[in-house]
Amino acid sequence: MANILDKVIEEQKFSRRTFLKAATAVTAAAGLEVTGTKAAHAEDFTLPNYKEVDSVCSLCNGGCGLKVMIGPDGKIARVYGDPDNPYNKGGICPKPMEMAQAIYSEHRVLYPMKKVNGKFERISWDEAIDIIAEKLKYYLDNYGNSSIIAFTSKVGQAGCKEAMKTFQQLTGIATFGTTPVCYATEKKILTSMFGQGCATNPMADVVNSKILLMVGNNNAATKPGQFHWIQEARRRGMKLIVVDVRYTDTAKNADEFYMINPGTDGALGMAMLNVVIKENIYDKDFVNNYVLGFEALAEAVKDFTPKKAAEITGIPEEAIVRLAREFARYKGAGMFYPGRGVVMTNNSSGTLLAFYSLMAILGNVGKPGAGILSHLASSYGSVKNIVPQEEVVKPERKWKHYEIYEGMEKGQIKMVLTAGNPCVTWPDSIRMRKALDGVEFHVSHTIFMDDTAELADIVLPAAHWFEVSGPQKGVNWALMWREAAHAPLGEAKSGQEFYYLLAQKMGFNMSYFVKTPEEHWARMVEKNSKVAGITIERMKKEKAVHYPCKSLSEKPKLKPLYTDLKFKTPSGKIEIQQLDKNRLKTEIAYYQDPLESPGNSKDRAKDYPLMFSTAKVAAHYHSQCQYSAWAREIETPYLEIHPATAAKYGVKDGDKVVVETPYGKITLAAKLTELISEKVVSTQPYFGLKSPYKQEPANTLFPADHDINGSFLQKNIQCRIYKA
Ligand code: SF4
Repeated sequence: MANILDKVIEEQKFSRRTFLKAATAVTAAAGLEVTGTKAAHAEDFTLPNYKEVDSVCSLCNGGCGLKVMIGPDGKIARVYGDPDNPYNKGGICPKPMEMAQAIYSEHRVLYPMKKVNGKFERISWDEAIDIIAEKLKYYLDNYGNSSIIAFTSKVGQAGCKEAMKTFQQLTGIATFGTTPVCYATEKKILTSMFGQGCATNPMADVVNSKILLMVGNNNAATKPGQFHWIQEARRRGMKLIVVDVRYTDTAKNADEFYMINPGTDGALGMAMLNVVIKENIYDKDFVNNYVLGFEALAEAVKDFTPKKAAEITGIPEEAIVRLAREFARYKGAGMFYPGRGVVMTNNSSGTLLAFYSLMAILGNVGKPGAGILSHLASSYGSVKNIVPQEEVVKPERKWKHYEIYEGMEKGQIKMVLTAGNPCVTWPDSIRMRKALDGVEFHVSHTIFMDDTAELADIVLPAAHWFEVSGPQKGVNWALMWREAAHAPLGEAKSGQEFYYLLAQKMGFNMSYFVKTPEEHWARMVEKNSKVAGITIERMKKEKAVHYPCKSLSEKPKLKPLYTDLKFKTPSGKIEIQQLDKNRLKTEIAYYQDPLESPGNSKDRAKDYPLMFSTAKVAAHYHSQCQYSAWAREIETPYLEIHPATAAKYGVKDGDKVVVETPYGKITLAAKLTELISEKVVSTQPYFGLKSPYKQEPANTLFPADHDINGSFLQKNIQCRIYKA
């Protein structure tokens, strides 16, 4: 099939005069309004005292190009989508604008502080680094490297991640990023099945597709700056099917929407497999040549009939059969795009295995418009062996994500470095708060004084990504250069600088560390052949350069992975049967009720008859945007309840309602809506007790001891509700 992506990009090149129209259309698709922007923007471009800086949004992995207008006072006055960026084409969502407002708020941490008798006192960076280095040495010498852990998050940029990894290799301490609270299961299964832990296709490639199935994915709200690709694909005739427990902004754009019973998506996948195998309508040549484990798959799904799936999912049997046949009709041109509503559940492994297997046996791999979409972008590699192997310090214990709570509680973990806000973003928030409060020494490198920073012994001011230059990738697998809008406020420093200073104080070999983002990228270009042709100058000039790109003269095009049908798996094929390191057969597509649901916890079902979940909204990202007054006006915390469910519990719109799971309870204002399943109640996942919202985090309701292929459970858990 011809790849029409280049043609679409060319056709859609927007002029500055028209890009705001597009931005407004995108945000309108997400149910938001941008008013007055056009007039203000036109003015900014002509004002003599305003400066324009090219930036890239570093929030949701969308990778939207930005234009940042610096006002006469040196602060960010406006943020717009970059009309010349080939992938967001001037469209953005409210989040970067909100962040530009939040970084000047009173919640910003501007200088290092030390806690003395429960109160923070200002100290210098020198003093802070002296104290931290001394503590590090003390715990390393006396308790070993398993006594120290570090969290990072989206606060850390590319240079920070590299510096943190180098630091980790020189000390052997354990580090945790956003993997267990976002995508570990997805990455693990993609890796074992296809060989690379990322999407098989860039997002813009959806314009080549004929049919797209989105499950538990409200992309119109979570990545509004890139959602126009799905809308464009629809305009070109692609059929969009959305399956969710809520009628979302994405569902409003769909050709077909199915409200599914919570946590039962895997049953739909199993039944679709059953139909295409039973009716012999899969791609036999592709399966014979490139797929390993088909017989086991056929056996696993043979009794999973559409009738059985209909009973579990609530989706009519006929619809399941028709969907399966339609995907088979468009074999070689179909796509699957799961969202966090699938990935963060505790039956996600079986569900992802089922849908990924469906894509594989329909030959939806290695072709334009066919494959699996994800915010996990293809990797551009890294500089290998910065620390020579003989100097790499082995961790004395490999802490698993779910073990660190107990490790802190039992005093085995004595020192914690946080960058990010695990007290809000990790599950069992109260337990995390108590555990962090109990460790002997806690350093928080933070932009805002959040729930986690409040507990620290030392608080360090972190630079925001608006204030740090650096490379940024996105869902379209291009590298873009983000120019710092201005110097970090106050005494804020980037994560890269923090680890540089700490390494220097620790007496480490400083040839392993680089100080600036420019030095970080120069070393990357020199030592990582995948990006040898992507210099800073080139990124600035061309806006977005695809990788791999091995020379300055190379002009790589956007294309799916696996077009050569070579898979970096042990067999060289797509391994739909998961094999362990001894090549023993382990998992194949399966369905099980969500572990914390009435189906699997029958003894608790009468006490917890509903399911609780969280749903992302366009105005928030992780816990950062809650420090923006604009974001707070757009979104207040609520509990979405179907009116029929509310009536059962005597709840009226606006009533304070307690939502309680076997692990905790929080109170929220009821928001009655017909747009949600009667079996589910849902809230936004972002808010903290110490934030201006003063809201107990939704993660209070989830346990910390679940391990789903490296992920926690953070969606779908049985609950009950009652009026507060
Ligand atoms: S869609 Fe994502 S990358 Fe684009 S502006 Fe919004 S938060 Fe930033």
